Amino acid sequence: AKNAGKNVYRFFEEAMQEDIIEKLSMERSLREAMGKDELQLHFQPIVSLSTGEIGGYEALLRWHNLQRGMVSPGRFIPLMEESGLIVPIGAWVMRTACAFARKLMDRGCLDSYVAVNVSVKQLINGDFVSMVKAALAEAGVPPTALELEITETILMDSEFFDDNVAKLRELKATGVRIALDDFGTGYSSLTYLKQLPIDIVKIDKSFVDDLAAGGKNKLIMGSIIALAHNLGLTVVAEGVETEAQRDLLREFQCDFIQGYIISRPAPAAEMLEFNTV
Ligand code: C2E
Ligand code: CA
Ligand code: CA
Ligand code: CA
Repeated sequence: AKNAGKNVYRFFEEAMQEDIIEKLSMERSLREAMGKDELQLHFQPIVSLSTGEIGGYEALLRWHNLQRGMVSPGRFIPLMEESGLIVPIGAWVMRTACAFARKLMDRGCLDSYVAVNVSVKQLINGDFVSMVKAALAEAGVPPTALELEITETILMDSEFFDDNVAKLRELKATGVRIALDDFGTGYSSLTYLKQLPIDIVKIDKSFVDDLAAGGKNKLIMGSIIALAHNLGLTVVAEGVETEAQRDLLREFQCDFIQGYIISRPAPAAEMLEFNTV
């Protein structure tokens, strides 16, 4: 039995080593991805439930590697964060998203915005505020054309809470909007929300999925939306796939929806084509 235990241990040790080797190899590929043009930004529309018009687009990073094929953000974003690559790649995302906002404006969509996901590693970087301002200036778009999406873990997990909030406040003061992403999956409380400089809450897909199950789920969704509205926040529901979900969200006076029912994320050129003003 003792030997068996040893073998099991050795097995796990080897599996762990393979895991580490694979991570290192993927990190190396990621490091080269930018230079090789393997990264692309896709955009997904966010649509008003009252007017049916597109309010803005969320920018979502895609990585297509020759050997690996499409790698999901759920796998490569954490690696980018661990390795610090999120800082230069995040800056590229910001510039590319702002350039897309410029193209929207050139097509007459003067009120559209682009929503960009921001990781904590980027936010605590000393240059974050100037990086964002430079990306806006370079593209020639006003700060109101940009929304930053942050998760509450960004703020909770970090010893830099006050610094992070100060940076978001500084950008918000220029007109950049701030969205709290994945709302409901963390520890959000009423009082906590009030402390943050946010304009928008994005209700996580898991709550939208639960709507179909009925029971208390509708009550919860209705309460979250009412609560956010009472705090003066705009509400976006994520991952809306069915008409039933959309109709319920409209009933609860959710402001915007995003999801496959409208469109999957797609390259900029496709989105611009799709856009009619
Ligand atoms: P997220 O910010 O919560 O983004 C929403 C995710 O839901 C996206 O997954 C989107 O493709 C997916 N989605 C949208 N509508 C639907 C729907 O109707 N059904 C289903 N099943 N899924 C839907 P994606 O693109 O795989 O991105 C995953 C996560 O990776 C994002 O979650 C975000 O946290 C992160 N991410 C993506 N791009 C970036 C980036 O440029 N920077 C950073 N820091 N994180 C990023
Ligand atoms: Ca997001
Ligand atoms: Ca989200
Ligand atoms: Ca998410």
